[in-house]
Amino acid sequence: MFNLDTLVRENIKRLVPYSTARDEFKGEASIFLDANENNFGSPLPVNYNRYPDPMQWQLKYKIADIKGVPPQNIFIGHGSDEAIDVLYRSFVNPGVDNVILCPPTYGMYEVSAHINDAIIRKVTLTEDFQLDIPALQQAIDENTKLIFICSPNNPTGNSINRSDIELLLNNFDGIVVIDEAYINFSRQKTFIQELTEYPNLVVLQTLSKAWGLAGLRIGMAFASEDIVNTFNKVKPPYNISQATNELALQALENVNQVNEWIREIVIERDLLSGALLQLPEVLHIYPSDASFILVKTTDAKGIYNYLIEQGIVVRDRSKVELCMGCLRITIGTPAENLRLLHVLKSFNLKTATTASA
Ligand SMILES: *Cc1c(COP(=O)(O)O)cnc(C)c1O
Repeated sequence: MFNLDTLVRENIKRLVPYSTARDEFKGEASIFLDANENNFGSPLPVNYNRYPDPMQWQLKYKIADIKGVPPQNIFIGHGSDEAIDVLYRSFVNPGVDNVILCPPTYGMYEVSAHINDAIIRKVTLTEDFQLDIPALQQAIDENTKLIFICSPNNPTGNSINRSDIELLLNNFDGIVVIDEAYINFSRQKTFIQELTEYPNLVVLQTLSKAWGLAGLRIGMAFASEDIVNTFNKVKPPYNISQATNELALQALENVNQVNEWIREIVIERDLLSGALLQLPEVLHIYPSDASFILVKTTDAKGIYNYLIEQGIVVRDRSKVELCMGCLRITIGTPAENLRLLHVLKSFNLKTATTASA
């Protein structure tokens, strides 16, 4: 049986969270002398002299409206990376509890595990990059607090089978974290509508990818109100700055622009995949539900270096488990993708000339 109370670390349950000046006085007033702000203003064209809302309610209402999830079920972090860290600090007793990761996957789950001294259990994905359910069942024990599932997965690009995720949600008494950083590009539907169904579900999303706001650092966790309240106790009080808040609110008015980009990126993803497959150095393109493709090549290191010489940087993933020979390529603008193809065509000429020389 899932029981959040037994899952949360004892020190976090006992924790009396920091009480801000705005927690202690919420009413209207004309003179605020309670927070040691500088009441003269800021040395900028716009004033940032007041502390921001620790709970980011305005932003949460806006996100709630777009996502169709109540604002009380939303946690906003300084990037998803903060949400990942807060998950560890809320649930995982350092040196005692374990977390299950399914490589090849996003690197921050492991880094954050090390920072928080979580015991890591790795259950490698199957050859077709799906969950190995029998191995997961083996790996789970009474100290397993979190299972991270990235869907669509980075760096492989595929979505994880929904029925496998549901199996875990129904049978695992710890927290199932589904990282949906690339959900906007996916044919699969999000899990954020399932929060009422699964008390052990935490869905991560971000404004860094489809929304084009990686520099602002805004990540979101969608979860039960009890889980969100736990995260709110653990997070630094003012984790989202006033400037970030205002810019994000402005950006969230432009859903149409973002949807247009998503359509274009998906079209470009298919065009680029088709064109790359014509090249002799390309062995395979893995089906992608994300804004990047994983490309199996004859010579990952050689192609990587050749592209760098031509001013194009991709990600060499060839040292990663199950990704031998693979490069991860972000879908660029149409002009960037054409340039990439053009350069890759001459890679083969280059190797042909060296071979005959
Ligand atoms: C890019 C990415 C993120 C986003 O992290 P932010 O901290 O929100 O920028 C999260 N998860 C995965 C799998 C990613 O690839």
